[in-house]
Parts: sequence; C-alpha cells; structure tokens
Amino acid sequence: MTQKSPESHCMANPQTVASFERLKTSVAQFDVSGRTLLIPNMAPTGVRLLAACFRAVGVNAVVMETYKGLNLGKEFTSGKECFPCQVTLGDILYHLKKEEERLGEDFSPGNYVYFLPEADGPCRFGMYNKMQRLVLDRFPTYKDLPIVYLSTGNSYATSDILSPRYAPIFRRLSYVALIIADVFDRTVWRVRPYERRPGMTDEFMDGAIEEMAALIERIGTTLDFPQLYRCLETTVATAAGFIDPQKPRRPRIGIVGEIYLRTHPDSNQEIIRQIEKFGGEVVDASLGEWVNYVTYEQLQKTARKWRLAWRERDHGVLRKLTLQWISLQIERWYQAWRQGQVYRIAMRHLDIQQDHDIAAVEKRLDRDRLYSFAIGTEAALSIGGALEYVHEGFDGVVNVFPFTCMPSTICASILKPLLLDKRIPYLDAPYDGTYQPNREIVLRTFLYQARQHMESRRAKRENGKN
Ligand code: SF4
Repeated sequence: MTQKSPESHCMANPQTVASFERLKTSVAQFDVSGRTLLIPNMAPTGVRLLAACFRAVGVNAVVMETYKGLNLGKEFTSGKECFPCQVTLGDILYHLKKEEERLGEDFSPGNYVYFLPEADGPCRFGMYNKMQRLVLDRFPTYKDLPIVYLSTGNSYATSDILSPRYAPIFRRLSYVALIIADVFDRTVWRVRPYERRPGMTDEFMDGAIEEMAALIERIGTTLDFPQLYRCLETTVATAAGFIDPQKPRRPRIGIVGEIYLRTHPDSNQEIIRQIEKFGGEVVDASLGEWVNYVTYEQLQKTARKWRLAWRERDHGVLRKLTLQWISLQIERWYQAWRQGQVYRIAMRHLDIQQDHDIAAVEKRLDRDRLYSFAIGTEAALSIGGALEYVHEGFDGVVNVFPFTCMPSTICASILKPLLLDKRIPYLDAPYDGTYQPNREIVLRTFLYQARQHMESRRAKRENGKN
C-alpha cells in the first residue's frame, strides 16, 4: 500500500478551493441599489413594510410568493435541512421559474439579487444561503443570480449593501417599520377574536398595511416618523372600535419558538387562526424582540472580548472594542426609545401586549439558572419569553418550531417540565410541511386546559378580593 505524504492530506483540491471561492463571491455583501431585490416572505406584515423601506432608498424590493414552490424546495434538498430552508429555496426557485416564463428571452438573472440573511451560529441558519447557492448553481440560467445577506454577526449592519448616503437612513427607518409591523400584528390579535363582524379586522388591516407601506416608500428617506405615527394611530384607533364589548375575554396564549416558523402562516398551518378558532387570544413573540436581542447579544460579546483584551493589555484592540461597544449601546438606546414611542401611541387606544424587555428576559433566566444568554441561539429568547408570558398572566404557551430545530428542541426540553411544574398549559408544535391528523384535537385539548387555567386564575383573584 502506498503511503500518502502528510502534505498530500493537507493539499486542497483546486476544485474545492474554487467552490469555496464561489461561495464567497456570489454569496456576499455588495451595494444592491438599483437592482431587483427578491425577499422571501416571512412575517407577512413585517416583510411588506421592510420591502417598502428598501424601495424608499431606491432598491426595487419584491416580496416573493410563498409556499407555492415547496415541492421544488423538497426536490432539491436531501431532507436533512431545516424546514425554513426548504420553504425559502422553494420560493426562490418558483419565483425564478415564473419570471422565466413571463419574460422569455428577456429573462436575465443578473438583474435580480436574492436576499437571504444569516446568523453567525451556532445552528444551520448560517448555512442556508451557501447551500441554496449550490442548488441555484445546478441551473445554468441561475448561476448569475447573486445572493446578498445581512448577518447577526454585525447586528444586521446595512453599510455593505447600501450606499453610504442611504445605509444609516435605512437602518433607522427599517427598525421603526418593523416595530410598526409588530404593533399592527398585535392589534389584529387583540381585536380579531372579538370583532363585531367576522373578517372585518383582516379586511381593514390589509388596507392599512398597504397605506403604511406606500407612506414609507414616499417619505421614508425624510425619517419623518411623526407622520408614520399618525397613520399608525389612526389605524389602531379605528381597529379598536371593531371590538364587540359583549364578547368575554378569552384565555391568552403566548407563542414562542423559531422565528421563521412562528411568523410564517403557511408553514405553521395558520396556528394563530387555529388557536383563535378554538377560543384563544394569541400574542406571538415579535420581530422587534429578535432585533433587540441581536443588538443585546452583540453588546455582551463585545464586552466579553473587551475583558479578554484588558487581561492581555492589548491597547489597540481595547480602543476598537470600546468604540464598538459605545456604538452598540447607542443602538440599543435608540431601539428602546423608538419602540417605546410606537407602543405608547398604540396603547392610547388599545391595550395590546407590550414587548418583552431583553434585559428582563435575561434576568428571569439567570434567576432560576435555567439557561444562559452566553450560550446564545433563540432558545434563550424562547425560554425567557415563555417565563415572561407566565409572569404576565398568560394562560398557555405554545412553542412553534421546525421539526428537528436545534434551539427549539433545547427550549422544549427545558420548558415542558418547568411549565408543568408551574401548572401552565404548554404545547410543542413542530412542523415539517406534513399534515398531522391529530393536530386539531391536540389544539382543542390545549385550549380547554388554557380556559380552565384562566377560570381558576380568575376564581383565585375573586377569592382574594373577598
Ligand atoms: S434555528 Fe432551527 S430551523 Fe433555524 S437554522 Fe437553526 S436549527 Fe434550523
């Protein structure tokens, strides 16, 4: 048997090097101004307003139709990928196929940019865009379609994908737009279960989102937030009038879990409407909570690196990290300030659920030594968020996630015994695109328990008063 020299093991195969280079060059951060940006449809309200923010700064952003290409997504994956990866891959393949049919000879993939953000670990989300690059490369026509991303690694910094003139504007505008989207969603969840006429809330809010998107597109670059707030206030005040005061309050159910699944109605088989149908009122964890968490986590990571640099007396690194820390802290204050403004305006007219404060979530986790923010992932937010719901008097918690999702499985293993101990109804709701015949029975049973919980909570309160 011929022995290979140690060098031969280490020598990189030129083809492999070329593939890695390709992943770096065509999954990248570059200025997307003037291009057609294809955005996967995730949280329906948030994504519509986000696309409007891009259009405001001169990027022709299009939200792709979703879930129609699921078969394509499944055909070009092995089955080991996370479900959101299959759904988004299906969306892009379906969209490109339709564009090819529509434009014929004029179809040019180089006119588009596919927008697929990523996380800096530790789970598979950081690999979706690379994996999808490999799939797109299997189609000779789609090779020229670049993928652009934002990353949690630098708190979704936009300076590398927009011109220096628009990047800071977009950052502030998109944050406020996402918070407005959260408030719109919370308005729907607060009003719809009690509406005077079935369907009136959805009908009205659909028009209101359209109106807000048009306003953002028109005046977004002026950062005239009071104008956006006026539109928000009128919307919330009108929707509040749809509530029929004769309808009794329902048990409140808090949703936690993986961000794509819990905000993508097709993938979660419309779990929010299902819960409402069986007698609950829902609050889903917000987009703002995730963005705030990313900033908070980056702040903590920077502080940890700073301590390390301090021990090594590395003054160059210390200076850089100090500036980074200050800029993240300013970002965090800005986010808290803007988020507070938007919620306060809405709450003048409607008692929507306020968002969780990330530092409070962390404190709650630390108090019981359940999980540490230092481990990271969405598990920290989901476990902490569920405990916040319990503290706020919710009557049940649902953990919505893709089947086999790593952080959500951790979350389920901690939350299940914990909430059982606190006698709070809890449900794991994993999805992978298949329809489980018993899902409806499980949800009905869960809602029955939640109602019992609400009644016993009320009875205790009444007894306390007497
Ligand atoms: S969060 Fe879950 S679904 Fe998303 S990439 Fe990680 S393991 Fe997959």
